[in-house]
Amino acid sequence: MKNWENHVRKVVPYVAGEQPKEQDVIKLNTNENPYPPAPGVEKVIQNFDCEVLRKYPDPDVSALTSALAKQYGLDRGQVFVGVGSDDVLAMSFLTFFNSGKPVLFPDITYSFYDVWADLYRIPYECQPLDEDFCIKKEDYMKPNGGIVLANPNAPTGVMTELAVIEEIIAANQDVVVIVDEAYVDFDGRSCVPLIEKYDNLLVVQTFSKSRALAGMRIGYAMGSQKLIQYLKDVKFSFNSYTMNALTIAAGVASLADEAYFRQNLAKVVATRERAKKELARLGFVFGDSKTNFIFAAHKTVPAQEIFEALRASKIYVRHWNKPRIANYLRISVGTDEEMDRLFAFLEQYLT
Ligand code: PMP
Repeated sequence: MKNWENHVRKVVPYVAGEQPKEQDVIKLNTNENPYPPAPGVEKVIQNFDCEVLRKYPDPDVSALTSALAKQYGLDRGQVFVGVGSDDVLAMSFLTFFNSGKPVLFPDITYSFYDVWADLYRIPYECQPLDEDFCIKKEDYMKPNGGIVLANPNAPTGVMTELAVIEEIIAANQDVVVIVDEAYVDFDGRSCVPLIEKYDNLLVVQTFSKSRALAGMRIGYAMGSQKLIQYLKDVKFSFNSYTMNALTIAAGVASLADEAYFRQNLAKVVATRERAKKELARLGFVFGDSKTNFIFAAHKTVPAQEIFEALRASKIYVRHWNKPRIANYLRISVGTDEEMDRLFAFLEQYLT
């Protein structure tokens, strides 16, 4: 190895779900929304005045932060936006986890958390979920450098009751607690109302799932004015213009159509509930998902085998060859037609 290589920041990057190149794939592997974004988004994009692109975008992203603040009954200074919630979470790790003490998160959770911790050299300790993939609150009642909880959790789909989340926040007021609510709109319960009570709580959400805008890259964080200001200070020390003008306009248009949003969520949730019945009938076991995916194991057939058979017939789901979860498949909720094709394949393959 040449000497310069000793001084490189070496990292093991996060591996995202596959974006297939082949045609006619039923893509149930990255929890995207199966329906288009609100019609107003398309209109804004079609009518976008390219002259606007000559100038830098608004570094404060005022139009979008104002619309979000209005939506949640917060002040604009309590909202931070980023290029997807991955960007928001990465900035939050950099800003808030500097005590040198270990940050706590579950052993089975969003697999980007340990990647950011390693990237920034933040020590961390994974707390094992119980056999039902539930968090044990006592695990978060010890000295730590911060806490990150996805609620509902990914990839398990399990939601922790708000009362438990609040107990954890209340017991950890000397550190920042981040609650990642990427999937909360699909029936979950948000802890945004707790922001008033706890100035150390940061709630992170995204337009990627419930607003069908994964390709646009919009995420946001909500918290006390103080927390958000610290986050902005770091962001403006990193890159002022992360969110482009077209994305800002699309985000505002999405928020403007509440009826479409509700209708879309109801459709996904109805299909998820139907999928639970079908998968149970086919011999799968799973927890009570409150997300747009189901994390399921088959009673007799190994997940790896089903995963490969599905893939060979162009149905993509997600599988991790990792301890404790190697026998599970994470199946995103698609359209009713896509799910019917999945069930038909499984019916024939498993019986
Ligand atoms: N948090 C969780 C729990 C997720 O599953 C994802 C999606 N991979 C994200 C955050 C990031 O989503 P995005 O960057 O698209 O907002």
